Amino acid sequence: MQNMAAAPKQQERASGVIRQEKLAPLDVRLEKLGLVRDWDFALHLPLRYEDETSVTPIGSLAVNTHAQIEGRVADQRFVRTGRGQQLQAVVEDSTGSITIRFLHYFPSIQKQLAVGSTVRLYGEPREGYYGGLEMVHPRIKSGKAAETELPKALTPVYPAGEGIQQRWLRKRIDRALLDLDLTDLVPEAVRTKFGLPGLREALSYIHTPPSGADVIGLQERSAPAWRRLIFDELLAQQITLRESRAVAFQRTAPPLAGDDAELVGCFLAQLPFNLTNAQRRVTDEILADLAANRPMHRLVQGDVGSGKTVVAALAALRAVASGHQASLMAPTEILAEQHFRKIAAWLEPLGIRTAWLTGRLKTAEKNAALEAVASGEARIVIGTHALIQEGVKFANLGLAIVDEQHRFGVDQRAALSAKGDDPHLLVMSATPIPRTLALILYGDLDVSVIDQLPPGRKPIETYAVTSAYHPRLYAFIRKQVEAGRQVYIVCPAIEENEASGGLQAVTTYYTETACALLPRRRIGLLHGKLKPKEKDEVMQKFKAGELDVLVSTTVIEVGVDVPNATVMVIENAERFGLSALHQLRGRVGRGAADSCCILISDNVNEPVRERLQFLCRTPDGFAVAKYDLETRGPGDFFGAAQHGLPTLRVADLVQDTKTLRVAQDE
Ligand code: ADP
Ligand code: MG
Repeated sequence: MQNMAAAPKQQERASGVIRQEKLAPLDVRLEKLGLVRDWDFALHLPLRYEDETSVTPIGSLAVNTHAQIEGRVADQRFVRTGRGQQLQAVVEDSTGSITIRFLHYFPSIQKQLAVGSTVRLYGEPREGYYGGLEMVHPRIKSGKAAETELPKALTPVYPAGEGIQQRWLRKRIDRALLDLDLTDLVPEAVRTKFGLPGLREALSYIHTPPSGADVIGLQERSAPAWRRLIFDELLAQQITLRESRAVAFQRTAPPLAGDDAELVGCFLAQLPFNLTNAQRRVTDEILADLAANRPMHRLVQGDVGSGKTVVAALAALRAVASGHQASLMAPTEILAEQHFRKIAAWLEPLGIRTAWLTGRLKTAEKNAALEAVASGEARIVIGTHALIQEGVKFANLGLAIVDEQHRFGVDQRAALSAKGDDPHLLVMSATPIPRTLALILYGDLDVSVIDQLPPGRKPIETYAVTSAYHPRLYAFIRKQVEAGRQVYIVCPAIEENEASGGLQAVTTYYTETACALLPRRRIGLLHGKLKPKEKDEVMQKFKAGELDVLVSTTVIEVGVDVPNATVMVIENAERFGLSALHQLRGRVGRGAADSCCILISDNVNEPVRERLQFLCRTPDGFAVAKYDLETRGPGDFFGAAQHGLPTLRVADLVQDTKTLRVAQDE
C-alpha cells in the first residue's frame, strides 16, 4: 500500500500533472470506516494477524502459508504477458530461491527490488507456473527497513480504506486505548464465572498481542479476549432490548376486552373455511394480550400461506368491538391494496367501515380518507408507510398491526405506535426464523407461531434445472396456460447492462424470451421501476385472469395472493437467498390445483447446487430459514435496519449462540 501510494508522486514529478484523483480528506475517509470517536478506534478490530517475528529460510517455505523471508535479489526482469507487463524477480538466501511476481508495473517496486539489494518480504508462497515456488505481490521492506530488528509480537492487520496506512491505524488505536476510560462495567464475579479477562486486558491483547502468542490462537473466537468482546456486545444488545421492553411494560394501553362474540360469529360464518388449530391458538394468545391494560408487543410468525391475514382481521374485530380503531400497515402498495380488498370484503358486510391510505391517493381521496380516520368513522385503516406520515391522525387507535414486519425497521414500528395513545402492537412475519433465535432477536416482542398450514394444501413440487430445459419448460407453460392456469416468471434484474452480466434481465427476458416463446399469450411485465399505478394495473390484470403469464422481478415476493397461479419459474435462482426463493415459491399452491416451482440456474458451483437441492426437498419454511441461517449467516434475513439493532462487530448470532444465552441470563 505504501508502495502504491508512492507511484503517482513520481508520475507527478515527471509530467508535472497530478494524474490521480485527489483523495477525500482523512477524516472523511475514516468516517466511512466508522472511525470517529476514540471508542470506534478501540473497537476497530484486526481482520487477521501477520507473523513477522521470524524469518523462514527459503528452502523450508510451505505452500499457502504466509511467511517472511529475507534474501538478496539475484535477478529482475520484465515479462510481457497477454495482459501487459509483469515485474519478475528472483530472491535467494543460503537455502534456496523463490520467484517474486508483480502483475503490474510499479516504478517504486522496481527500485526496491534492485538486483544485489537485501530485502525482507512477507507473503504467501505458491507453486510457480514453471515449477519452484513464487510469491505474488509480497510486502517489501528494503534498505534500512530490511535491517531493523524483527518485531517481538504478531502484527495486527486492520480493515482500512484507500490511503489509510496500517502503521498509522495501529498508532491511532494505541492512543485511543491510552486516552479512553476503560473501567470495566462487567462485575468481577461475572468475569470469573465465565473465565473472561478484563476489558482493558482483552483489548490490548487483541491490538498488541504479547510476544509468544500464536496466530491461530489469536484468531480463534474462543480465545478469552475475543470471547470477552463478544460477550460485551451481546450483553449490550440484550440490555437494550430488555430496556425497551421494560419501558413498554410501564405503559398502559386501553384494554380491548369488548364483547366481539356476535361480530366474530358473523365473520367466521361467512369465511369459506374453518380456522386451523394453529390460527385459533394464536388468535387466543393475541386476544388475551389485548384484554390487558399493558400494550401488547407480539410477533406472529407463520410460513407463507399459513393464514396470517385472518388472524389479523380477528384481532382488528376485537379492537372495533371495544370501540377502538385498528390499523394495518403493509410494506408495498400491492400488498396493502390486496389486504384492503380482502378485509373490506370481509368486514364491510358486517357494517364496519374500512379506509385505505397510500402515498398515491389523489388529494381529494386522501383528504376524505384522512377525515374518516380522524373522525373515527373509519374503524379499520389499511395502508402503506403513508399511515405513519405526519398528517395522519387517528380518533382512537387501539391496535396497530404491521404485516411482513421484516421489511420495516423498529423506528417505523415505533412511529406507528406513536399514532395512538400507546396502542397494542401486532407484527406479522412470513420470514420464519427458528424460535430460539426469534426470542433473542425480537427480545422486545412476544412470539406466536402459526405452525400449521390450512388442510388440503398440496406440497409444491420444486425442481432445480439448467437453462437447457427452457424448450421443455415452455412447452409445459403453454400446456398450463391452455388449461386455464397462470404462471409467474421471476428474473433478478431490471435491464440488461454490464453490471447484470449474463443475468436474465426482466425487460429483455420479457421481449426476447417470454413473448417469443409464448406467442398469442397474454403476458405482463412487472418491476420496481414502474410507476405505482402501472404496477397496480398489471397486478390487477393478473389477479383478474386477464394475463396468462407475469414476468416480474421480486416485487411479488411478499404476500401476493392469486390462487389460480400454479407455476413459479425463477431464473438465475442462485442469485436469491433460500428464504427469498421460499417466499416466491409461496406465491403458488394457493388454490386446489397442483402447483410447481422451477428453479433455473446454470451455476455449477457445488454449494450453490446443494442449496437449491435443499429447497427442492424441503417444503417447510422454518427448516429453509434455519439452513439459510447456518450456511449464509443472518445477514440475509435481517440487516440492522430490519431488526433495528446496531450491527454486531464481533458477535455472530449463529456462531455465538452459547455466549448469547449466557449474556441473556446475566
Ligand atoms: P399468509 O400467512 O401468507 O399471509 P394468507 O393470510 O394470505 O397467508 O392466507 C393464504 C390463503 O389461505 C388465503 O387465500 C386465505 O384466504 C387462505 N386461508 C387462510 N386460512 C385458511 C384456513 N384455515 N383454511 C383454508 N384456507 C385458509
Ligand atoms: Mg400475508
